[in-house]
Amino acid sequence: MNNKDSWMIADLHIHSRFSRACSKNINFENLVKWAKIKGLNLLGTSDFTHPVWFSEIKEKLVEKNGLYYYYQDFPFIISGEISLIYTQGRGRRIHLVLLVPSIKIAEKIHDYLDTKGRRDYDGRPIFKIPCDEFVRDMMAISEEIEIIPAHIWTPWFGVFGSMSGFDSLKECFKDQFENIHAIETGISSDPEMNWRIKELEGKAIVSFSDAHSFWPFRLGREATIFQKTDSYKGIIEQIRNNTFIATIEVDPAYGKYHWDGHRICSFSCSPEKTKELNGICPVCKRTLTIGVENRVGQLATNPDGFKTKNAKYFYKILPLHEIIALAIGNGMQSKKVWDIYNSLIKKFQNEFNILLDVPKEELLEKEVNDNLVNLIMKNREQKIKVQAGFDGEYGKVLLGEKQSTLI
Ligand SMILES: [Zn+2]
Ligand SMILES: [Zn+2]
Repeated sequence: MNNKDSWMIADLHIHSRFSRACSKNINFENLVKWAKIKGLNLLGTSDFTHPVWFSEIKEKLVEKNGLYYYYQDFPFIISGEISLIYTQGRGRRIHLVLLVPSIKIAEKIHDYLDTKGRRDYDGRPIFKIPCDEFVRDMMAISEEIEIIPAHIWTPWFGVFGSMSGFDSLKECFKDQFENIHAIETGISSDPEMNWRIKELEGKAIVSFSDAHSFWPFRLGREATIFQKTDSYKGIIEQIRNNTFIATIEVDPAYGKYHWDGHRICSFSCSPEKTKELNGICPVCKRTLTIGVENRVGQLATNPDGFKTKNAKYFYKILPLHEIIALAIGNGMQSKKVWDIYNSLIKKFQNEFNILLDVPKEELLEKEVNDNLVNLIMKNREQKIKVQAGFDGEYGKVLLGEKQSTLI
């Protein structure tokens, strides 16, 4: 691994308070405060298409040397997500992350979108534009715009999603395939799973959080580690040339769509079990929502365990809140968990430092509880067991006995 002083840990897919189901307290002040606590070094603004949020971007962020946009001393890249819903043979629903070089280009994208529909009702607006047409139109505005298919495996809005996605990127992006340089794994898949898809071998595999709040168990839970750079261009080049350092992932079982199941029926199962059940929910007798692991299996062209040539190192680590909650047996958002979290941040600067770096001896020296230290180490060794999420329900870190019997 490279020298960590050269790292720039970035979360470029998040949301503002104007996106559906997002915290109403998301503003730049809170984002920067919690990004620093998490140990992030660069954020996407999110939701640049939203008129009110965009006016805040213009008012609160300062452009320095035309490179990044700063809130105080913290850099941002202009970013957003759009939802394309259209028919190509059957109904398709695809989310795309956009990275945008400047306010000026953002405004040109606004002008374009305004000819197609409205963008004021949600931070992630919906348009009826086919993906290939959208990419072509963006490239006509500026070739510096980066378009990244978001959380590509989620059943309803991923480009490979089981419900309204495609079986291949080419089928989706057609002649614009080469203008897609990267895909986002989403919480429910990790790079290893994506290495099984031959078509992705020439694409960079990036990770971001898609956070709907600024709490550190959401913001930066997945992120991409870039070589430190002082410009938008420096980031985009690393994506396009696949020269960034690594990604940070959670256990894909932690995501909301890892396994198959029905949330309302409280039923979930592995892809093998789904096969036995002929895809039918034993509770309600309707078709199960097929999750990410199953879908990867359907589309995989490379064997399980295959490693692509351009594979990046990736960390697989659960948020610190989960680990503290596991250590003391309290809810993740309880006061006790927060008290311990805050004292750890005071001692060790930021969460990524604690999760990835601080040596065991130093944790013990500074009087961190033995049990918690052991779990922090187990988290680094990927030995914390997670019950797989399904049909919109997050995966759960197994508690108490269940955890120890499985380790
Ligand atoms: Zn999305
Ligand atoms: Zn059911």
